Amino acid sequence: MNDATSDIFSLRGRRSTRCINVGNVQVGGDSDITIQSMTTAITRDTLSTLKQIETLTDVGCEIIRVAVPKDADADALAEIVANSPIPVVADVHFHSKFVYKAIDAGCGGVRVNPGNILHFETEVPKICATAKSAGVSLRIGVNAGSLDDSLRALYFESPAEALVESALREAKMFEDNGFYDFKISVKHHDPIVTVKAYEMLAKQGDWPLHLGVTEAGLLFDGTIKGVSAIAILLSLGIGDTIRLSLTANPIEEIKLAKGLLQALRFRTKPVEIIACPTCGRCEIELIELAEKVENAIKDLKPSRPLKVAVMGCAVNGPGEAKEADLGLAGGKGRGILFAKGKVIKTVKEGDMLDELIKLINQA
Ligand code: SF4
Repeated sequence: MNDATSDIFSLRGRRSTRCINVGNVQVGGDSDITIQSMTTAITRDTLSTLKQIETLTDVGCEIIRVAVPKDADADALAEIVANSPIPVVADVHFHSKFVYKAIDAGCGGVRVNPGNILHFETEVPKICATAKSAGVSLRIGVNAGSLDDSLRALYFESPAEALVESALREAKMFEDNGFYDFKISVKHHDPIVTVKAYEMLAKQGDWPLHLGVTEAGLLFDGTIKGVSAIAILLSLGIGDTIRLSLTANPIEEIKLAKGLLQALRFRTKPVEIIACPTCGRCEIELIELAEKVENAIKDLKPSRPLKVAVMGCAVNGPGEAKEADLGLAGGKGRGILFAKGKVIKTVKEGDMLDELIKLINQA
């Protein structure tokens, strides 16, 4: 973990995994848990794809995947890779020719869905040899919708087992061909199935795991499903890279992934806001105030991570937020500023925000 927070605020250690490279980003081993997303622009529209990659990189995306459904998309990869600030992973279904084209184009990785790649078994030796000689990693991305027919019956009995069985078969094929630089995902649209599948898979080998709930849904439901499954798995020490799939602008995926890693202390948040839920004792517009504080601190980079409390009343607020480095508690016409639960100043209600920001800047 790259957070200096003490152990009482840390989850258990991460499962030991082999380290692979996705371009210049490491996944697995001791590396940080990375954040991924996927472009929604048509890949062959290189201008739009690169613009989206840039926007996603700016909000915190570290590995980007692009769909490669057609020859024109595969042909666009070299230009995208050459101009992308982060490693590009080609997402390949059905045609193995796109795997080779992606490797030739310099992609950092290729996601293959072995369940639907035509003649996958006969192609495996060539895929492994080509990826190995180019130093490109692969992802075995198992999907419920494209499981081998021989796993259908098992899928209806135990979807998680079927996903894992598929992944194990495909991992064995890679390893039998002397190829080890791959990660695995066993995503499902149901968060419980997803958790079970990854838990089972994690016990079977040291592959780095790419976590995600697939087809999770629109922003609200998708967030709940994706965050709950990924948080459970991370709390078990499972997971090396994450994608929070949403039926929404991928910017939301990155913001959520970043927030999740910060909340679980895999990443440091420069300023964390603790805000009370308000109750009948609150005599100020607390939600509005908390939003103003959040907006005011969003670009601040204090010399050390700070917890800042925004509380609704002066009676209970400082006590309830005594772990906060700094805080303010509203009251009728005035508010108090406090540090570690102790009152340090009383100010006029209208000055509370400015005074708090001043204190944060001095911290
Ligand atoms: S800090 Fe005050 S207003 Fe906020 S929940 Fe606690 S008692 Fe209620």
